[in-house]
Amino acid sequence: MQVVETVSDVRRIRRELAGSWGLVPTMGYLHAGHLSLVERARAENDRVGVSIFVNPTQFGPNEDLESYPRDLERDLSLLRELGVDLVWTPFVEEMYPPGFQTYVTVEEVTRPLEGAARPGHFRGVTTVVAKLFNVFQPDRAYFGQKDAQQAIVIQRMVKDLNFPLEIVVCPTVREPDGLAMSSRNVYLTPEQRAAAPVLYRSLCAARNAWVAGEHDGERLRRIMRSILDAEPLAQTEYVSAADPQTLEELGDASQGVLLSMAVRIGKARLIDNILLTPDQ
Ligand code: AMP
Repeated sequence: MQVVETVSDVRRIRRELAGSWGLVPTMGYLHAGHLSLVERARAENDRVGVSIFVNPTQFGPNEDLESYPRDLERDLSLLRELGVDLVWTPFVEEMYPPGFQTYVTVEEVTRPLEGAARPGHFRGVTTVVAKLFNVFQPDRAYFGQKDAQQAIVIQRMVKDLNFPLEIVVCPTVREPDGLAMSSRNVYLTPEQRAAAPVLYRSLCAARNAWVAGEHDGERLRRIMRSILDAEPLAQTEYVSAADPQTLEELGDASQGVLLSMAVRIGKARLIDNILLTPDQ
């Protein structure tokens, strides 16, 4: 496994190692969710590249850029075990050298939900992902359903800008009690950690209602909110029952719905979602 820091090293290795390439972009502090993406990439490509970069442009001024957890040595040993070919760990100055002033903006689908709660977030995400795609030139890139809106935004960007690659969205990996794995779960105290499965519980309650025939979007949102409200340690930022393509809030959810939420528990801002499609 080669570990490099510069754009020119990535490009050189990309040229030297023949065959199809899968890319897994990450911010590091890897957990089983990230590793599931790497395994899928390993199964579907001749070569696998992983980027580890805590991207400053996708963090707001009052967010956790400085405190975001990092453990590069541990990350590299996990990736080595999975047979990754190339890891790129750029410095901020390599990604954003002096004079940098070009950004990629996806419009409608970045406005609601995470886009409304975190102004500028998706501009940072799409810009860095476009750069990763240009440098690695992968045949496939792997993203998690955990960040549902991010996956939709990236798919839109790839289509609109004709990036010659396939986006593969992989299922959310959860702890045994249902909490979606996240690098940010480390912020939770034991008491907060015990409360955190409330996100998945509320999603499952809305899913069960939907499967039983409750297709009114407002009532689905109310089901989720009432379960979250019953947990004193949880502060709900938003709950959503939205169109899975446009992310507009639905009145009639009978044709499928993306149930999603952002909830603060202590210092952690947690997001989770379930996608329901008519064949379920
Ligand atoms: P991050 O390091 O948080 O930027 O995540 C890197 C990639 O891993 C993104 O595509 C995430 O959606 C994905 N990911 C994060 N957590 C999970 C999870 N629990 N299950 C599946 N994929 C995940």
